[in-house]
Amino acid sequence: MEPYRIKVVEPLAFTTREEREAALKRVAYNPFELRADEVTIDLLSDSGTGAISADQLAAGMQGDESYAGSRSFYRWHEVVSELTGYPHILPAHQGRAAERILFSSLLRPGTSVLSNTHFDTTRANVELTGCTAYDLPCAEAKDLDSDFPFKGNIDLIALEQALENADQTPVAAVLMTITNNGGGGQPVSMDNLHRTAELCRRHNVPMILDAARFAENAWLVTQREPGYAHRTPRQVAEEAFRLADGCVMSAKKDGIVHIGGFIGLKDAELAERCGGLLIATEGFTTYGGLSGRDLDMMARGLLEVTEPAYLAERADIAGYLAARIREAGVDIVEPAGLHALYVNAGRLLPHIPPHQYPGTALVCELYLRGGIRSAELGSLYLGEEDEHGNPVKTAPYELVRLALPRRVYTRSHYDHVAATLADIAKNPESVHGYRVTSQSPILRHFSIKLEPVKSGD
Ligand SMILES: *Cc1c(COP(=O)(O)O)cnc(C)c1O
Repeated sequence: MEPYRIKVVEPLAFTTREEREAALKRVAYNPFELRADEVTIDLLSDSGTGAISADQLAAGMQGDESYAGSRSFYRWHEVVSELTGYPHILPAHQGRAAERILFSSLLRPGTSVLSNTHFDTTRANVELTGCTAYDLPCAEAKDLDSDFPFKGNIDLIALEQALENADQTPVAAVLMTITNNGGGGQPVSMDNLHRTAELCRRHNVPMILDAARFAENAWLVTQREPGYAHRTPRQVAEEAFRLADGCVMSAKKDGIVHIGGFIGLKDAELAERCGGLLIATEGFTTYGGLSGRDLDMMARGLLEVTEPAYLAERADIAGYLAARIREAGVDIVEPAGLHALYVNAGRLLPHIPPHQYPGTALVCELYLRGGIRSAELGSLYLGEEDEHGNPVKTAPYELVRLALPRRVYTRSHYDHVAATLADIAKNPESVHGYRVTSQSPILRHFSIKLEPVKSGD
């Protein structure tokens, strides 16, 4: 059962099929443009969407809003230093701000960053410095159906080769994303992290964690990795942070707050450069774009997130939804992680070609039938077409991400999600594809406009 009871509630928005059809048409079939009050179950993102605890709210009331050196900062600093072990910690308003500040201070044009998989804003912030971002996911990640426990791992052989051939493009950093959000929310093993850290040490390249879901990664390590069954998630997380030279963190995920992030570093000189940029663009080094209230709530969230009862239930409810979806005959990326389930839309809708976006078709259908908002992770997100709509590049898989906000929805909400998917799976051939009517050159999925492709078109 959920290890909490509910003290504050927020009504769900219920809409009719006609209202949803009109809403979807109005936003040109792009769910990012829907108003939240048009959505019943919102699985668009697990970022900043969690429910805060009574203790977090109480901590927020203690927020000290002094411009510099607030009590909140020192309380927060103690929590983050004990968790991560880094001597230099800087607050930032969210993950991408931390990325921008660290990467602008660390990376030089013409160098490269190697990763198990860069998250989209992470890649954008690497590329904005003139640096190239390379993804080196492990081979096991390519098989969506296998139950290999650590599909988030980096390919160690490819990493070693890239580090050894670094005379062409010097490697400025190795970035390990835990869990691997771009790669299906799959965890990275401690063995893989240790070996990566060793390779980085040997080649004198810093290893940085993108730690947005450090607690979920730690939980999966205790469940799946030999030798870690008797460790607590907190101990695993502490070990992971200490293996790296620093981290960027979006606390909107495993900080269980609505806004917040930080940079942690071992290197004093690098931290000083980051601090300068932080003051110029985010805020003084003791608040970094956050209020004292935000810092206190984040500190409390960072303690709650590694509680075994919290993580066990998070895994349990994700497993529950995964089981209901499999029963409906719909495939997801296996094994199920914690923060999201990735539905294999390409396999459910094989009659829709990649350039008519099976993922988008499923996203739209989930909304039309169930008022559920989800995100496409397929050829709309990763693909490209020429000006006539002919495919230039398609995604390797057509996926739909059902992100699971922390402590927000209960089993009966997820029953509704599974029932809606089951309903679609009864006659998937009735679902049609979409074509692009207008788009922007970068991060097109946020603002794209589409129209349905009717049969015979
Ligand atoms: C969300 C996320 C980020 C960016 O964080 P924001 O707080 O959204 O700016 C970076 N990396 C990963 C892995 C993420 O999931």
